[in-house]
Parts: sequence; structure tokens; C-alpha cells
Amino acid sequence: MKKKVIVLGGDGFCGWPTSLYLSRSGYDVTIVDNLSRRKIDVELECESLTPIRPMSSRLAKWRELTGEDIRFFNFDVARHYHRLLTLIKELEPMAIVHFAEQRAAPYSMKSSYHKRYTVDNNLNATHNVLCAIVESGLDVHLIHLGTTGVYGYGTAGIQIPEGYLKVKVDAGGTDEEMKIMYPPHPGSIYHMTKTQDALSFLYYNRNDGLRITDLHQGIVWGTNTNETMLDEILINRFDYDGDYGTVLNRFLMQAAIGHPLTVHGTGGQTRAFINIQDTVKCIRIAVENPPEHGEPVKIFNQTTECHNILELAKQIKKLCGAEIKYYVNPRNEDEKNDLNFCNDNFMKLGLNPITLNEGLMNEIHDIAKKYQNRCDISKIICTSRWRSDLLIDTKGSTRPVIKTSFEKAV
Ligand code: NAD
Repeated sequence: MKKKVIVLGGDGFCGWPTSLYLSRSGYDVTIVDNLSRRKIDVELECESLTPIRPMSSRLAKWRELTGEDIRFFNFDVARHYHRLLTLIKELEPMAIVHFAEQRAAPYSMKSSYHKRYTVDNNLNATHNVLCAIVESGLDVHLIHLGTTGVYGYGTAGIQIPEGYLKVKVDAGGTDEEMKIMYPPHPGSIYHMTKTQDALSFLYYNRNDGLRITDLHQGIVWGTNTNETMLDEILINRFDYDGDYGTVLNRFLMQAAIGHPLTVHGTGGQTRAFINIQDTVKCIRIAVENPPEHGEPVKIFNQTTECHNILELAKQIKKLCGAEIKYYVNPRNEDEKNDLNFCNDNFMKLGLNPITLNEGLMNEIHDIAKKYQNRCDISKIICTSRWRSDLLIDTKGSTRPVIKTSFEKAV
């Protein structure tokens, strides 16, 4: 009999290709999603650049092409606790992969409503899953998608370890060695929910012995995987707007339609990245390598490389001939930072990472070109701000913008 996996948030950018990859890899996959991301498209009046199809069409095409059935349940994991519990009891899955959270930092900072929605949705979704696994009495491995953003975007001055930090504390004259959780440093309400998820994992792991893997994922770039490329009906999301678009995809799309590349501030920020094709492989590796019983929460840095944003923009400018413009940074963050992550866990388990290369960047650029008529140019600029005194900069400048507040910027 096939091993069963529930994918929470399986209609999303990472969840959809992961569901297909797991199904193709021989797992019996069940998706739960309340389609909230599609509803947010309606709210923001902006759609995925690629035309994503209704869930029933996606699943019917998958069945037709592969003979594999993926079940789908439409409910809210943060609200409908008993549906979740019943599903877990009925299916008895070996693992639950949890993507079902509001995942955009800019969206989480738009207003009090968006802050409260993100906290309410993310913390309740995660807590409901933990609580339901315990109540089911089953031994289900939980794999959660967290973010490298939990470590903060300052310069750590060290290679950031995978979740835990070895420290020496002064215990009255003698040094005691301890292993502690890496200090959380959330840079937005969204990131704050991920750091609070981590506390719930710590508690349920210690109190109830739950086996949990928390994947601290970098910014995902790319759009299609081998599975989503099988047919246009299976195509994955491509977010390009100021709230949901991730930086590298945004730059490639901006280059494709002749919009200046929107570098925030000086472009001195460094970020961690992973290609979507590696995301799906990492999830499978995590499913197949659960923690032992009694093992602390397993934390993997699910990222393959770090890049400086201005250097990235320059690379894309060279590749596609785009113009670079600098915009007042809507985020409250250092103008410049360095990052370096340890990712030994996945490397030891056989991940062969895809790093940034011209072939793949060209492929994404071509997808963006193909669907450019679906782009609403007015949605490109980021209009969410971390604080109300930060200027919404729609014009941009040809020179790096050092100051961030309205008075200082002009
Ligand atoms: P996404 O918004 O495209 O997908 C999330 C899915 O979860 C959506 O389909 C949404 O409808 C669903 N969902 C949200 N709340 C729900 C709820 N309460 N009940 C049921 N379904 C719900 O986001 P994504 O890019 O696929 O990200 C998935 C996960 O990976 C997120 O938790 C995110 O924090 C993490 N992550 C993503 C990135 C990235 O670059 N995309 C980077 C790091 C971490």
C-alpha cells in the first residue's frame, strides 16, 4: 500500500508542485486548502502572471496524464479543527506537510487588518495541526515550512547554523556549554508568526513527543517543475506584484516587460535563495528522513545560495538588458547585510542543488514574456510599508536611496 501524505496548502506556489512531485514519487497525496490565496488575488485585484486553473481541472489533468488520484478537501485549517482531526484519523498519514499559512511579509504589513489576519491564520493553523496530531493518537511526522527570515536580516558575523546555537554561559566562574534555539529576529509580522510557530513545535515535541521537522526555507525562485510542465493546465503560480512576488522572479518579469528593476534602498541586502525544483526535492527528503522518536525538533536550512540584491539586478541587467532603478525601501531593515547559512543537513542527505544559472533565468524570463499581457503594471511597485512614515515611492531614482523616511528621502 502507498504511504499517505497530507499536504496542507497544496494549492499554493510551493504546495502544488510538491503535491505533484510526491504523487509522482509514489505517495498517496491528499491536499487540504481553503483557497485563501486565490481569494487574496481577488482582494489585491492582481492575479498570478501564469494562468492557474481551478483545482478540479488541475487534478483531472493529473489523473489523465499519470493515472494518479490526488484527493482535495477545501477547508480552513485555522478554523475547522474537527474536519482536520477527522481527516487525520481516517487517513492515518505517515506525514503532514504544512504550507498553509499567509506567507507574504509585505501583505502582513499592509494594515492592522492584515497583521491580525496573518497572526490569527498562521498561529491557529499551526497550533490546530499540532493539537490534532496529538488528539488522533497517531504517530504522524509534521514537516513545516518556515523561513530563513526567522534568523533576521542583520549581519550575524557567523555561518548561521541549522536552528540551534552552541553557546557558553558563565555559571558563576565556570563556562557551561549549552545548545539553545538560535535567537529569533523577526523582521515583519509574517516572520514573527514563524518564530512563534517554532515555540509551539518546541512545546509539542517536548510534551507530547511529536516528531517535527521545521524547514527554514530561503526565497523561492522559478515557477515550473518537471511535473507542472507536463501540461499548461498544471502550470504553477507566478506572483509578480509588490506584495507576493519574490525578488528574483520579480526582476526577471520586470526585465521581460521592459519595467526598470525595482531595487529597494541601496540593494545592499543579502538574501538566501532556493529554486522551486529543489524545494520539492527537499520536502521529499524531509518526508523520507523523519526524526527518531525522542529526537528534538529537526531544523534544516532549506536554502542553496545567498545573493546580494544589487548584484542580482546587475546580473539580470546584463542577461536581459534591463534598466535598474532604486526605490525607497518600504522595509525597516539595515541598508546592507551579509548572510551565510549552513545547509549541511540536506547536502548530507543527497541534495544536488540547482544554483542560479543563465539557462534557468532565461527560462523564467521566457515564461514571463509569454504571459506579459496578463501583467498589471500598476501592481509592480511595493505599496506596503513597515511604518507609516516611510514613503511610498512610485517613481524611483537612478541612484541608490540611502534614507528611508519621507523627510530624509527628499
Ligand atoms: P502560497 O500563499 O502560494 O501558498 C499557501 C497556501 O496555503 C495557499 O494555497 C493558501 O490558500 C493556503 N492556506 C493559507 N492559509 C490556510 C488555512 N488557514 N487553511 C487552509 N489553507 C490555507 O505560499 P507559498 O509560497 O507556497 O508558501 C508556502 C509556505 O512556504 C508558507 O508557509 C511560507 O511561509 C513558506 N515559504 C515560502 C517561501 C517563498 O519564497 N514562497 C519562502 C520561505 C518560506
